[in-house]
Amino acid sequence: MSSPTTPRTRARRGEGQWALGYREPLNKNEQSKKDDHPLNVRARIENIYAHGGFDSIDPADLRGRFRWFGLYTQRKPGIDGGRTATLEPEELDDEYFMLRVRIDGGAVTTEQLAVIGEVSQTYARDTADITDRQNIQYHWIRVEDMPAVWARLEGAGLTTMEACGDSPRVILGSPVAGIAEDEVLDATPAIDEIRRRYVGDPAFANLPRKFKTAISGLPDVAHEVHDVAFVGVNHPEHGPGLDVWVGGGLSTNPMIGQRLGAWVPLDEVAEVWAGVISIFRDYGYRRLRNRARLKYLVKDWGAAKFREVLETEYLHRPLLDGPAPEVPDVQRDHVGVHRQQDGRYYVGAAPIAGRVSGSTLVAVAKAAERVGSRRVRFTPLQKLVVLDVPEAEVDGLRAELTKLGLRTDPSPWRRGVMACTGLEFCKLAIVETKARAADLVAALEERLADITDDVTAPVSVHLNGCPNSCARIQTADIGLKGQIVTDANGNQVEGFQVHLGGGLGLDAGFGRKLRGHKVTGDELPDYVERVVRAYVAQREPDERFAQ
Ligand code: SF4
Repeated sequence: MSSPTTPRTRARRGEGQWALGYREPLNKNEQSKKDDHPLNVRARIENIYAHGGFDSIDPADLRGRFRWFGLYTQRKPGIDGGRTATLEPEELDDEYFMLRVRIDGGAVTTEQLAVIGEVSQTYARDTADITDRQNIQYHWIRVEDMPAVWARLEGAGLTTMEACGDSPRVILGSPVAGIAEDEVLDATPAIDEIRRRYVGDPAFANLPRKFKTAISGLPDVAHEVHDVAFVGVNHPEHGPGLDVWVGGGLSTNPMIGQRLGAWVPLDEVAEVWAGVISIFRDYGYRRLRNRARLKYLVKDWGAAKFREVLETEYLHRPLLDGPAPEVPDVQRDHVGVHRQQDGRYYVGAAPIAGRVSGSTLVAVAKAAERVGSRRVRFTPLQKLVVLDVPEAEVDGLRAELTKLGLRTDPSPWRRGVMACTGLEFCKLAIVETKARAADLVAALEERLADITDDVTAPVSVHLNGCPNSCARIQTADIGLKGQIVTDANGNQVEGFQVHLGGGLGLDAGFGRKLRGHKVTGDELPDYVERVVRAYVAQREPDERFAQ
């Protein structure tokens, strides 16, 4: 009871922040993480489930802790998107898994690439998608095969650790780190240090939700939409270093990250990263899953308070102020042939929406080795890049990649398309995406051949299978959010809500959702053709799509 002399204070409803004493789990995800540390599931997979098979798996592991090792159940075939929201999770579960291989900085050796491909051929029905987080994603994995899969991958220095889950996920890095002629610095040492010191560290493996990091000497990693990002910048007094951003994210309530105005030298990035992720662990909101990403805390605190807490409670020292990084006018996708710092070349190639196969990856590894390369990188735009190609070998490599379905001179449509996993395998999906992206590219290449030369920068078209934003639809020129729509005959069919004019870099901002602006899947090629023709016909000289 409040005393008559004390003003009545309304009890503020806790957000479930550990640092403020809210230790009791407030939802089933938090309870599951408290019941057993998620990293413990690895031993159960190897010792119990791999022998007992799918039916032996504890549901709390199956739909929760498996994610910490990159495993999700995939969608049972034959369930249409209109039923996604009406079914229980177990009704959607197939007994096969999607498995993500985490590839920090998107960087693999050709030996590793061959192993990734061979694992796919042996255990994943030859499936492999390059994700927009520079991972490789397999499908059709059986739990019985996981010990053998890990033995092959880990034997090659690869891992699935914390590829998913409420953990520090794969760190995005520039696909051309260490070779680009214009990078501010090569951020690879910071990525390597964080991975070595903190990935798999139990202290950072129970976060309020996922934690996405990007670290790059170039603004080519969508840094604006990460929980934390470090972007190369030259300080007028201290030279090359990195500018710190926090609180970006997409899905519902998308937010552009905020600059802390702090400049960090390369060898301090890991320490500052550990401070930021510690704030998220300790002060992040755990009451509601849909408010648990770091962006909500940053929105409430603002950048100044966030920096102050980081400096006083975690780093115990002030950070140096620093300038903002340069903003590119177009998003760099590294497709095509480009000169490296050392005079050799890197060759970027585009599959359609990241879809390749294990056999293709094995063939790419061999083709790269034939021309003397030992390094390949995946990009945040679902492409791949072969590094260190001698000038005399460039044309031969391009021809080989083309034969594999990887174009080094793609049309703007193939180059600009991205798609998430979609209905084929994802349990949350409402519509099909990958095959639809391939059909769209084929249709646009034919229909828009007359204006292809007029489109000087790729027009980005991103397809999501549901309201989540795995394919970053809000940052695309044409963003397509999968949903059920009504067609001209009144039927409920797969379709998309359209967002127009999103972008990163100079045009950083989210596409406008146009009320009532929906297309059916079948109408999609007509719609995109109309929009692109209107843009080409009406634009000012050098006007970008997002303007
Ligand atoms: Fe699945 Fe939706 Fe993400 Fe696509 S956007 S992969 S459908 S959760």
